[in-house]
Amino acid sequence: MQKSIENNVRDGRNYGASRDGGARHHAGVDLLTNSRDYNAWAMADGVIIKTISSYWEGTSAIFVKHGGLYALYGEIKIAGGLKEGGEVTQGQVLGNTIPNTKNGAAMLHLEIYTGSERTSANRLDPTFAQYLPAFTP
Ligand SMILES: [Zn+2]
Repeated sequence: MQKSIENNVRDGRNYGASRDGGARHHAGVDLLTNSRDYNAWAMADGVIIKTISSYWEGTSAIFVKHGGLYALYGEIKIAGGLKEGGEVTQGQVLGNTIPNTKNGAAMLHLEIYTGSERTSANRLDPTFAQYLPAFTP
């Protein structure tokens, strides 16, 4: 049975958290689910920019343009049939959470950008985004 990630789950690691002893910083927020098979929903209507089959430690990611903002839904297993250039609708299942192969944690790792390049200059703190319901692009 598929379950949904609850609204505003913020028990994961925050945006900007130190990584690698401060050498880098967490580019998104982690919405921990502690098990597989939680759905990751599209926050708004959008167009798929890219699917990343090998993202991090056995997980995948999907990068979606939502109006003027771009969201990376990471560390999931992408749902079947989703391809670059395809349209998604708000609430559509983009994938589901799966345990990573490093430590078995399962989450949606969510990043938000103001442009199609995933650079620090374009990156926003995703904490503003109501994961459900949708944010306003
Ligand atoms: Zn993360």
